Amino acid sequence: MSTIAAVSTPNAPGGIAVIRISGKDALDVADRIFKPAGNRRVQDMEGYTCAYGIAYDNGERIDDCILTVFREPHSYTGENIAEISCHGGLYVTKRILRTALKNGAVNAEAGEFTKRAYLNGKLDLTQAEAVMDIISAKGERELKMAENLREGVAFKKAKSCSDKLMKILGDLAAWADYPEEDIPEVKPENLCDGLEEVQKELFSLIENYDCGRILREGISTAIVGRPNVGKSTLFNCLSGCERSIVTDIAGTTRDVVEESVRLGDITLRLADTAGIRETDDVIEEIGVDIAEKLIDSSELVIAVFDGNCPLTEDDLNLIKRLNNKKCIAVINKSDLGICTDIAEIQKYIQQIVYLSAKENDGIERLQSAVELIFEMNENSFSSAVASNERQKQCIDSALMYIESAVSALKNGEFLDAVNVLIDEAEQSLLSLTGEKITDAVVDEVFSRFCVGK
Ligand code: GDP
Repeated sequence: MSTIAAVSTPNAPGGIAVIRISGKDALDVADRIFKPAGNRRVQDMEGYTCAYGIAYDNGERIDDCILTVFREPHSYTGENIAEISCHGGLYVTKRILRTALKNGAVNAEAGEFTKRAYLNGKLDLTQAEAVMDIISAKGERELKMAENLREGVAFKKAKSCSDKLMKILGDLAAWADYPEEDIPEVKPENLCDGLEEVQKELFSLIENYDCGRILREGISTAIVGRPNVGKSTLFNCLSGCERSIVTDIAGTTRDVVEESVRLGDITLRLADTAGIRETDDVIEEIGVDIAEKLIDSSELVIAVFDGNCPLTEDDLNLIKRLNNKKCIAVINKSDLGICTDIAEIQKYIQQIVYLSAKENDGIERLQSAVELIFEMNENSFSSAVASNERQKQCIDSALMYIESAVSALKNGEFLDAVNVLIDEAEQSLLSLTGEKITDAVVDEVFSRFCVGK
């Protein structure tokens, strides 16, 4: 395998940048471009040690740097690694990388360091994916979920389920092959119990999937209401200091550009808010159609009402449209006193939040309402494991085969048929951990990484 190199820090000026070189010849390459102080050679350095020195390009000094050595197999990739920390200027960093490339390394592809870690058995595929989750985590809870996955929660559980399935398959095979020998008869009830136990364990990996997904991807949200109820004020209030104007959400079906705001640990992706904020009247000016589309296409609707005046015709029309939607009615302007008909709103919308956008009062209540609607609580966060569609599909597929095996057993079908179904479930688990998977899937997983990771 070639020796690869890439800049592992962001492509922007900074205090320090790191160039990572990994492969059989990593220390050779490092020796050609870096001279440790004290007339030493990188080759002679022990693993987990670092040296101060100068990076050179063909004898010409580039920068003073620190080089850290990791020796195989005790490194991230499982190969020899040299990491050069230089001053974080864009030119300096690129120049050191280019010099490494001239001296025997080749450019690393996106995610190639982590891919090698996976190929060398340092990580299973779910742990490799967790590395990407750690990098993209936006808050405490998201990071915790990613850390759990990185520590192997999914991997260990998949392994334990896989072992149980193998044992069941083994019992079945022994019994089918040597029925005359003294092997206890395989009882369908016992098989069912074993399979149901596996089913339970696997289900726990996906039961809070949506909760985790929401934390990672955010909730597409529409803020709607007639003019002057305080939509813009609420938007500004939510934007606060944590406003990110453009969010590029990778891994969704389309890369959408939206405005997003943070509500505690939750991101609300406010689709087409420019439209709402520029027009005074969503319902009349941009037309019922667009308002409806916006409502339909959003996972959450925040319907804003002016708490200080009675409901108008427009309010009533809006309320009726929101039936069956995940929706929060914000009764705004609570600082002025409430005289609107709350009971009428409650007929259609369960979650009511009193709030004063102007006084920035009640945002925590809005956050609690969102958490309630999406069933997000500490327990669901801490037990959300599967972190992407690929993982979920593998587990869903294993569960489906096990369920079919259980009903085949209950219907008294041939054990051969049961055998095939259990084997399929086992295959799905091997895909989950990446133990048995096509190159195309592996490439697809790592293509979502950035270069240098
Ligand atoms: P929009 O048309 O729905 O976007 O409403 P705006 O956000 O432009 O607000 C309309 C008016 O209501 C502005 O004068 C705001 O200052 C005022 N307003 C908004 N929220 C509140 C609030 O919570 N309390 C009070 N007293 N006034 C508010």
